[in-house]
Amino acid sequence: MLRVYACIVQEHDLRLVVVAVIICLLASCIAFSAFKQAQRDKTREPLWTALTAIVAGLGIWATHFVAMLAFEPNLPVGYDIGTTLMSVVVAVVVSGMGWRVALDPRPATVALGGAIVGVGVATMHFIGMGALEIAGLMVWDRSLVMASIGLGVVLSALAVRLSRSSSRVLARSAPLVLALAICALHFVAMAAVRIYPGNAVDLTGGAVDSATLATVVTAGILLIMLAGFGLLSFERTLARVQLDEAAQRSALAEQILQTAAERDALTAQLQREAELSTAALENMVHGLSVYDENERLVVFNQKYAELYGIPAHLLVPGTPFFDIREHLVASGTFPDNDEFYHNILSAKREEGGRFEVSLLDGRIVEVRMKRMPSGGRLATHEDVTAARKSAQEIAWLAAHDALTGLPNRTAFARKLAAALADAPDPHLAMLTIDLDRFKEVNDTLGHPFGDRILRHAAERLSELAGTDDVVTRLGGDEFAVIQLGVSDPVAAGELAARIIDALDRPFEFEGHTVVIGASIGIALAPRDSANPDELMQMSDLALYRAKAESRGTHRFFEPGMDARLRERRSIEAGLRVAIREGQFEVLYQPQLDLRSGAISGFEALVRWNHPTRGVIQPLDFIPVAEDTSLIIPIGEWVLRQACRDAARWPEDVKVAVNLSPAQFKRGDLIAVTMNALAAANLAPGRLELEITESVLLHDETWVRSVLDRLTAFGVGIALDDFGTGYSSLSYLRSFPFSKIKIDRSFVADLAGASDCRAIVQATIQLSEKLGMRTTAEGVETAEQLDILAHEGCTQVQGFRISRPVPALAVPALLDRYAPDYGRVARVV
Ligand code: C2E
Ligand code: CA
Ligand code: CA
Repeated sequence: MLRVYACIVQEHDLRLVVVAVIICLLASCIAFSAFKQAQRDKTREPLWTALTAIVAGLGIWATHFVAMLAFEPNLPVGYDIGTTLMSVVVAVVVSGMGWRVALDPRPATVALGGAIVGVGVATMHFIGMGALEIAGLMVWDRSLVMASIGLGVVLSALAVRLSRSSSRVLARSAPLVLALAICALHFVAMAAVRIYPGNAVDLTGGAVDSATLATVVTAGILLIMLAGFGLLSFERTLARVQLDEAAQRSALAEQILQTAAERDALTAQLQREAELSTAALENMVHGLSVYDENERLVVFNQKYAELYGIPAHLLVPGTPFFDIREHLVASGTFPDNDEFYHNILSAKREEGGRFEVSLLDGRIVEVRMKRMPSGGRLATHEDVTAARKSAQEIAWLAAHDALTGLPNRTAFARKLAAALADAPDPHLAMLTIDLDRFKEVNDTLGHPFGDRILRHAAERLSELAGTDDVVTRLGGDEFAVIQLGVSDPVAAGELAARIIDALDRPFEFEGHTVVIGASIGIALAPRDSANPDELMQMSDLALYRAKAESRGTHRFFEPGMDARLRERRSIEAGLRVAIREGQFEVLYQPQLDLRSGAISGFEALVRWNHPTRGVIQPLDFIPVAEDTSLIIPIGEWVLRQACRDAARWPEDVKVAVNLSPAQFKRGDLIAVTMNALAAANLAPGRLELEITESVLLHDETWVRSVLDRLTAFGVGIALDDFGTGYSSLSYLRSFPFSKIKIDRSFVADLAGASDCRAIVQATIQLSEKLGMRTTAEGVETAEQLDILAHEGCTQVQGFRISRPVPALAVPALLDRYAPDYGRVARVV
């Protein structure tokens, strides 16, 4: 330490030492400034590091040589220029490497970088000493040399480490410590050398003298000062510029943010509006389209696309209407005519418009068009097919019969009135047609079956009527025809005959063959009347007459017919009262057994004891009762009454009760029958039910099961009026009849020349073979009785034996026909 002190004080010019220290401090300060900048400014870091290295290197070098100027060895001194220059380069390069390493922020690496800077200082010093040419011998004190290097390296490491300290004071002390490192190394190293005067060296070749060195050093100092100044001012300007830039940037950023916020708000609002209008568009009940003034699609909704079946590739704003129209014509949606287009164009020309387009698939679209201020057009499209169709349907239904499609009664009345009003002298025939056996068939085979018959009957009628004639269904099984241009009864009669013929042809479906037949009433205009209501009523009356007299015929209106109609109406009304008040009575007509000659049973035949009109016969009210279903309560009453009366008769005498198809159809026949028997305490074997063939038209399996059950109970089943209906022999085989009643029309002609006898004979023989008994009805003469007995008929019934008698008279009759074979002969 003492040696160092002595070296500085005794061997150096102290003024120059001070200068060297100042230079050293100055360079150190600038170097750290540049180093700091290298850390901050990442993009120009190599530049700043280079500057640091240059400033520090030159500073070290300048310090060294100014200190060397202060060195007074009292011997001539010179410097080798090459080595001197090399020492500068080494100072810059090695310390530069140190600065570069120290940029890494890790503390150890920073210290290592500082140490390398220290190595740079040391290397520079000893190479610089190597450039010294002096007339003497230099002897080195090894330990001091080591100490100088150690000090330089450690202090440099410390300085660089301090410069990166987070404490400002410590950071600010870094240049001072680095300056100390440089100076310490230098002066301790100078103390380590001793120079002993010796051989003079040649100072002329290549060596530089102190004066030159002084100039170079001064220039070096100036250079450093200049670089430092430049650096600082540059740094300051840079900082200001950066500050300005930052301010500008932040202002800009703020502006951008603000704009972005405004734009977001606007976008959100636009989006909301777009969503709203999309929702409104898509939730519209109708299709909507907007085309611009150049006929190009602008706006549309999905309904519009769906309505016309516009494909996706055409559903693009800007698509010309022409393209869409072409597509729709090609796809068969639009008719290939210009009507639609013309409508649009005319609607465009005018203020707007409403029109209907009939699409080829049958749909009807209502278009409402509005011209836009811009010249384009906005249109709504509504599928009005259902509305238009139902309006048409309602109009059609109002005038037609839904079942047959014929004009209905209202339309018919209108047409009749029009036909009568049309010409000054109208000629027409009004035919009212009633299906004879429709009710039975409808009751027995069911309504769907009945409906088919009505439809087929309507077809047959339409085929027969003239093209101008009007065919209608008035309701139920009643039809009517207006035959136009007919002035005499002949043509009308011919048409009626053709119609009856046509409706007499069997109807065949669902495995059933039924014959319905028809009756017709005719009124003529103007002969009978020219008033439509009167005319309809008159043909109606003629129809009643036809039905009452003989079904399957036609009758013209005759004056006086309306009295019969009134009669029928009064019967219907009277029947209801009769049921309530018990105005019916059952008469009994005996059935005589031809083998025993005794009465084996009675047929119950109803009478109506009318309070004012006296006794009314069944043929005058039973058909009305059957038409109105009043036969149900009447029939049940007869059954119960007959059972009650029969219960008082001898046990071998039976009672036969007539059944209408309606009673059979009700489905409770077995219960009704068994109840009547039970109430009267009559054995089932004493009851016989008379049914006609029309009952058998009903669902065969069901009828069979009912009849089988009744038979099983012991109730007899008689087939009434055999020979008048279908007389299907197969019925005889498939149903369990106990008896067949030969209709009185055959009996009446039995003695005549007709084939009645042959038919009766055959029927009796067939019945015998099938194990059935036969009863001949309407036996009025001894001759008839004789023939029947001869043919083997089992029973007879008729006025010849007895007319129907009141229950009270039955015992007397039974008495008269007590079993006595001798008396049969008397009867005969
Ligand atoms: P029907 O079942 O053929 O009854 C026999 C009819 O022939 C009876 O007429 C009877 O008086 C009549 N008659 C009997 N013997 C003779 C005769 O020798 N000559 C003539 N010309 N006629 C004779 P009625 O009592 O007027 O009955 C007519 C029809 O009325 C019956 O024909 C039957 O189909 C029906 N009917 C009568 N009572 C009832 C009933 O309680 N219920 C049902 N559903 N129908 C009944
Ligand atoms: Ca009968
Ligand atoms: Ca009969």
